[in-house]
Amino acid sequence: MKWFDYAAPSSLDDALGLMAAHPGALLLAGGTDLLVQMRAGRKQTDFVVDVKRIAELNALRYDPAQGLTLGAAVPCYRIYRDTTVARAYPALAEVASLIGGTQIQGRASIGGNLCNAAPSADSVPLLIALGATCRIAAASGTREVAVEDFCTAPGRNVLQSGELLVSLHLPPPKPHSGARYLRFIPRNEMDIAVAGAGVEVVLENGAFRLARIALAAVAPTPLFVREAGEALTGKAVTEVNIAAAAEIARAAAKPITDMRGTEDYRRHLCAVLTRRALETAVQRAREEK
Ligand SMILES: Cc1cc2nc3c(=O)[nH]c(=O)nc-3n(C[C@H](O)[C@H](O)[C@H](O)COP(=O)(O)OP(=O)(O)OC[C@H]3O[C@@H](n4cnc5c(N)ncnc54)[C@H](O)[C@@H]3O)c2cc1C
Repeated sequence: MKWFDYAAPSSLDDALGLMAAHPGALLLAGGTDLLVQMRAGRKQTDFVVDVKRIAELNALRYDPAQGLTLGAAVPCYRIYRDTTVARAYPALAEVASLIGGTQIQGRASIGGNLCNAAPSADSVPLLIALGATCRIAAASGTREVAVEDFCTAPGRNVLQSGELLVSLHLPPPKPHSGARYLRFIPRNEMDIAVAGAGVEVVLENGAFRLARIALAAVAPTPLFVREAGEALTGKAVTEVNIAAAAEIARAAAKPITDMRGTEDYRRHLCAVLTRRALETAVQRAREEK
């Protein structure tokens, strides 16, 4: 591994100042993607800025009226160990406990999972389904971007030079809503998704008031299939309607064939995972108090 300088600022202003002074600097949260990529020579830098000591990036705040503020560097274990957060967003707690294993979850953040912009990132379809937004900071100010617009290509995102992700914001859980992320991997754990589906539904009088569906690992970026969710709006909660939405998700996928699975297999998985995720989300919405 090439030598690099390292700084761990404790304020956002200091981090932004360091990034301005070192335009090629790379940011480190848990390092579970970054350090692997640097060791493999896929990323190189002379300067690493560790963002874990910055208060705003470590915020984990839930307010029933405002929703959840999830600092970009909060490690996964803090999400599923926080009973208030896990009760309000059970699907988010599940996804946090799905990423890697216990050791990885002690370091890895949802912010890093998003910024790494892998098409297979497990948390991103769920964040999209839950309507999450990103708070991005630069020396010139802050801006908000919807998670569905954040990833632009494999390993690329909307962040410009000098910008960093401060936090994610999730709206408060809506009444009679449920969410779920499901992925398929050939092993029980510690593997990259062959395909994944994240959904949220809101029910009203036995019908879908709203549904959002997003897919992992079947396109160059995590894929928001807006039309699959919209196809459910106003429709009765039936097997037929759920299967039709799953079919739209299948058709929207643009997978490749690689060592993990063929294009056809991945499309098939999109339909199966979307249907199953919708079924569980509906069940959760019905049980929700
Ligand atoms: C053994 C193992 C198992 C894994 N299993 C899974 C899995 O099951 N599912 C899955 O999705 N992933 C998995 N991963 C990948 C990785 O753990 C996740 O993507 C993790 O969430 C990354 O978070 P991090 O905090 O470690 O990010 P880092 O490695 O610190 O950063 C990731 C990228 O984001 C950038 N970055 C970090 N923070 C910011 C910020 N605040 N603003 C702007 N850019 C930033 C970094 O520069 C880097 O490019 C696994 C990795 C390993 C090593």
